[in-house]
Amino acid sequence: MPEPLPHVGEILNRRRGEELSLNDRFVNPQMGRILRTLGFDRVWTGGEGAHLIDSGGERYLDLFGGYGVFALGRNHPEVISALEEVMEARTGNLPQLGVTLLSGVLAEQLLARAPDSVAAMVPASTGTEAVEAAIKIARAATGRGRVLYAEHAFHGLTLGSLSINGNAEFRDGFGPLLPGCDPVPFGDLQALRRELEGGDVAAFVVEPVQGKGVNLPAPGYLADAQELCRGAGALFVCDEVQTGVGRTGRFLALEHWGLEPDVICLAKALSGGFVPVGAVLVSRAAHTSVFDGMERAVRHGSTFGGNDLAAAAALATLRVLDRERLVERAERLGALLLELTRPLVDRYEVVREVRGLGLMWAIEFGPPEGRAATGSSARWPDMP
Ligand code: PLP
Repeated sequence: MPEPLPHVGEILNRRRGEELSLNDRFVNPQMGRILRTLGFDRVWTGGEGAHLIDSGGERYLDLFGGYGVFALGRNHPEVISALEEVMEARTGNLPQLGVTLLSGVLAEQLLARAPDSVAAMVPASTGTEAVEAAIKIARAATGRGRVLYAEHAFHGLTLGSLSINGNAEFRDGFGPLLPGCDPVPFGDLQALRRELEGGDVAAFVVEPVQGKGVNLPAPGYLADAQELCRGAGALFVCDEVQTGVGRTGRFLALEHWGLEPDVICLAKALSGGFVPVGAVLVSRAAHTSVFDGMERAVRHGSTFGGNDLAAAAALATLRVLDRERLVERAERLGALLLELTRPLVDRYEVVREVRGLGLMWAIEFGPPEGRAATGSSARWPDMP
């Protein structure tokens, strides 16, 4: 028999400092190597707002933001209270042959903040799961197999999402991926038109602003892409997993261009960074064509989709977002960030471009002119 496990509080106190050795032995030793190489091998003992705190009490401004989940900052007290409240209430979570209040209210609230083109929510637990659902819904709703995606796209790393990932470094070695998934250059309407012509495309899945590289769409691109999809009977799917929940200075980035997608994927910041969460907002027509009879009511879903903790955290997040006017703040701070950083392009040769929308922002570096361009070093890698 193994030793009895202590309480979590005791583990946090007594075993502090063992993080890296546990990681190296049981989780991902390559990550341990990266952390030691970069000097990021800290023991993180706390998180507060935009900061991570190490065992020496040093505070670090954390620009990873947990890969974009901490829209409210770390450990927002109101989300913590919501989680405590729902646990205190001992709710009838996950009845499965039954439905729950918090998930329903979350659907109501998300749809109230989304365009009229979507009318129902399919719950999920992560971003990639939301994208997988979008692919399946598009295939079922259209009876077609092909899915188009943009070069450099990132939609997650499970097999379906990976099949529409536009970055070789993620795809390589995991094939064969889903058949019928084809890339088009981001911004190229002619290429999209050509691919749609065959009438066999279920969906074009696109991030309104690409997370890998913060690539912004040309002004009319997304609206025209939506139009082309409509004309070809393909679903227009906006992956707002990274751009949504206020990041770009609108609750949904698609508001910048007045888009009306058939499917919208949300996740990441939606639960304030506490609980895995995902949501797929779907047009009534697409939803009805998938869930088209009692015997088909559970043909898509997942065990923890719509669970009370995720829904409560998401509702608290929406409340804080509204009350603290964080969407407007993202717009204001994003504009200030661009104003302060754009001059860097003129000041430093290695700064090629600064671009952004709200608080989705990138600074792109390039080699200085005088740098000898030989062999593989001649190629400057894409910005992560
Ligand atoms: N879609 C986009 C646009 C993303 O940026 C990500 C994650 O970075 C995902 C989907 C996948 O989300 P998750 O990591 O929660 O599966």
